Amino acid sequence: MKQKKVNEMRSSTRILIGLIVGTLVGLVLNKLNFQDSAFLNGLVTQILEPLGALFMRSLRIIVVPLVFASLITGVGRMGSIVKLGSMGTKLGIYYLATSFIAVIIGQVLVSVMQPGVGLDSALVAEAKLQYSDKMAALTAKSAGVGESLWPGILSTIVPSNIIDAMANTNMLAIIFVAIIFGSALLALEKKKSEPLLSVTSGVEEAVVVIVGWVMKLAPYAVAALMVGVIARFGFDLLANLAKYMLVVVLGYALHFFGTYTMFVRTFLKYPPLTFMKKMMPVYATAFSTSSSAATMPTTIHTAEMSFGVKKELASFSIPLGTTVNMDGTTLFECVAALFIAQIFGVELGLVGQVSLCLIIVLSSIGVAGVPGGSIPVVMSAMAMFNIPPVGIALVLGVDRILDMCRTVLNVTGDMCGALYLAKCDGQKLRTGMEHKESTLDDK
Ligand code: ASP
Repeated sequence: MKQKKVNEMRSSTRILIGLIVGTLVGLVLNKLNFQDSAFLNGLVTQILEPLGALFMRSLRIIVVPLVFASLITGVGRMGSIVKLGSMGTKLGIYYLATSFIAVIIGQVLVSVMQPGVGLDSALVAEAKLQYSDKMAALTAKSAGVGESLWPGILSTIVPSNIIDAMANTNMLAIIFVAIIFGSALLALEKKKSEPLLSVTSGVEEAVVVIVGWVMKLAPYAVAALMVGVIARFGFDLLANLAKYMLVVVLGYALHFFGTYTMFVRTFLKYPPLTFMKKMMPVYATAFSTSSSAATMPTTIHTAEMSFGVKKELASFSIPLGTTVNMDGTTLFECVAALFIAQIFGVELGLVGQVSLCLIIVLSSIGVAGVPGGSIPVVMSAMAMFNIPPVGIALVLGVDRILDMCRTVLNVTGDMCGALYLAKCDGQKLRTGMEHKESTLDDK
């Protein structure tokens, strides 16, 4: 056990070192204007960025089979349809409550701190020019989002072809079919459902082993990802957007250290510091990849192995949370939309602001858990309230850093959801730093 504890500490410490080294090297390359040197540019674009992308792809490659298999296992082993309904309802209430707290934090901060007031709108024109190629693609994508809200959302959730949904990583459809399938297994006699459940559970086990292997590369991959992001970061934009970034980061901090720490301490009766320590590999993966989907395998692994959440509960709540519960994203969307409204002088009034928050919470269900997944969605929400979507160009230059932080918040919400279900189920959560069967290191 002692050895395992050492292993776990080593795993998160190594990832943290990777994060720090990557950030420092990135800062140096940024200062040196790495694009001006053929050698440094080649190092970043031909070696480090492809290595980081490989790590993200290796994690994302297992997401579709993992979501499908783990949700079927989680639902199929839930015990009864009544328990499934009760767990689903609790989770739904938790998701909605935390998402609304997040948008309210965002809304209040923008109203009080007014980051967009007094900002030169000529900056928008300049940003539009700089991001013109990107903006065309984003505008086209955001138009699609608006159409798919209602009744389009129904055909997004209920696919006509599950293979097609899987090929296009349509997570809502995959989740819907897996829940229906799992419920059907739940309705069957145990001796009929068990053979299939042992297959889906076997797929899940195998995927967890693969995650263990991929995570061995995490310290290096995290460093490579950080170098690329920091080296390209527009520090010159910082002065203009400092107030906007401050509002977003302050909102994240309030939700992370306020809402979630309180939730962990009072609702879960769990020591917040131990929670954070155990979350290190999850945080580092989310921060460096900016993708809650790519982080999901690590989140499930940590829920089961470090916190001791029962397999069926982790398998049920985490894939669901990764797709539909994104507090960091809703908070960011709210701040970004209202910030741009302030710059363009769009008066929303209280009713308009409340409606915008509502649309943001609802549409965040469709945000893909990938870097910048929320950008087309927030543009579409802005268009509904006559806030010019092109204004988003202004914040694109600093968005990656904010995206890294909001992804950490998103995965925190997913983990808290899993721990909450475990608590509702009467489970005692593990507080020691040891892992149950295996660790990322000893796989
Ligand atoms: N990057 C976020 C995530 O993966 C999504 C977003 O807000 O853009 O959770």
